[in-house]
Amino acid sequence: MSKQRIVIALGGNALGKTPKEQLQLVKNTAKPIVDLIELGNEIIIAHGNGPQVGMINLAMETSANLTGSTPEIPFPECGAMSQGYIGYHLQNAIREELLNRGKDIPVAAVITQVVVDKKDMAFKNPSKPIGSFYSREESSKLENEKGYIMKEDAGRGWRRVVPSPKPVDIVEKNIVKTLVDNKYVVITVGGGGIPVVREGNSLVGVSAVIDKDFASEKIAEILDADYLIILTAVEQVAINFGKENEKWLSSISIDQAKTYMNEGHFAPGSMLPKVKAAVTFAQSKAGRKALITSLEKAQEGIEGKTGTLITM
Ligand code: ADP
Ligand code: MG
Repeated sequence: MSKQRIVIALGGNALGKTPKEQLQLVKNTAKPIVDLIELGNEIIIAHGNGPQVGMINLAMETSANLTGSTPEIPFPECGAMSQGYIGYHLQNAIREELLNRGKDIPVAAVITQVVVDKKDMAFKNPSKPIGSFYSREESSKLENEKGYIMKEDAGRGWRRVVPSPKPVDIVEKNIVKTLVDNKYVVITVGGGGIPVVREGNSLVGVSAVIDKDFASEKIAEILDADYLIILTAVEQVAINFGKENEKWLSSISIDQAKTYMNEGHFAPGSMLPKVKAAVTFAQSKAGRKALITSLEKAQEGIEGKTGTLITM
């Protein structure tokens, strides 16, 4: 296989719910990544941050409320902390795995800001649940006191929801490109990036969460990557998912993927953004491919043995 520039998007199952668990899990995550590096590919790593940013946000909120001795930490700052925390674990684990294989390649996590459009319709309809669950009473209190927007989340209680706007541009893109061009391993757009809006020369952080699948697609286009690989909990994408006539897909065209999307085969909060990101990337330029598979099957997936490949 010829050497390729590959953006890998890591899902929740590649990371952990607690620092201890995560430090252990990222050791496994590092293996398929380093396999691909050993084959001579250029690797850029993106990752989600749902549970981690929720944990940081809740800890900060609880501490500020209970003790009053720590300040309130705004949501974009929580996102930045999650990028640093996850980036640290990934860069630590990947460095070690590289060294174990006799490779001394620098690994850097870049704190990444992602520009979103103030006029994005997502700001009018916040949909992404974050942080802890509350009772109806607690949730109305938060709505009144903090101006949060609260919604009921799948029968589990009330949660704060924030907008999930589309990524428009990646502020640190040239830094990332320089590092990648110099053969360094880069971790970027963690948690979809820290969402910022432009105000003159300023970039102002906003309380929102950019979908990591869309942010990964964006950086893949910007870096002129050959391949976008979305690693998640399932080996392949299915139609009629979870039903009797479930069918796992090994290779689909963009048009086929669009048809399946319209037919509602992919769940909005989970598989739909992945298929959408894959389609957007595959149709952005001839030769670009997107693959959705599991972390464990990454290597086999890239060899064409499994996963769901989306191409022109
Ligand atoms: P990640 O953390 O990797 O973004 P998500 O939980 O958001 O993971 O999305 C992956 C999940 O999407 C799978 O584990 C699966 O349960 C679910 N899913 C929904 N629809 C489909 C589908 N049509 N085919 C495969 N998986 C699907
Ligand atoms: Mg997801």
